[in-house]
Amino acid sequence: MAVLVFILTFFFMEGVAWFTHKYVMHGLLWNLHEDHHTHTNPGFFERNDAFFLIFAVPGILCTVLGSSLGFPALFAIGLGITAYGFCYFLVHDVFIHQRFKWLRKTDNVYFRAIRRAHKKHHKHLSKEDGECFGMLLVPYKYLKAEIEASRK
Ligand SMILES: [Zn+2]
Ligand SMILES: [Zn+2]
Repeated sequence: MAVLVFILTFFFMEGVAWFTHKYVMHGLLWNLHEDHHTHTNPGFFERNDAFFLIFAVPGILCTVLGSSLGFPALFAIGLGITAYGFCYFLVHDVFIHQRFKWLRKTDNVYFRAIRRAHKKHHKHLSKEDGECFGMLLVPYKYLKAEIEASRK
């Protein structure tokens, strides 16, 4: 049961990430997300990193409350949120943007497609007219492009 809740939460978070990116980060809180597109902030950190803290809060709250109050389902939700955030960090910040040089090259068409789609997102420097706001759920056309490229 808890495992199922964990998995569902993980996939649900992809939807939350997509929605937040499209309507909040490219909306009301664009001033925090802008420097991730324009790279105007010198140094390692971006204002956009504030979203790490914002997204960490519900995960921490659910795990702490779930374990201290004895609600395994709530604990599983918290773990799902946190696990998604960690994967997002690994894929987006480490693999795609190379903020840590842990993993540069891959032949895996899925990860290459994710990177191709997110680079497409970064082609747009403004708040409006964006595309590819999701992360782990990649549009099929990018997957197809990578599969075709791998056959050459
Ligand atoms: Zn964006
Ligand atoms: Zn990015």
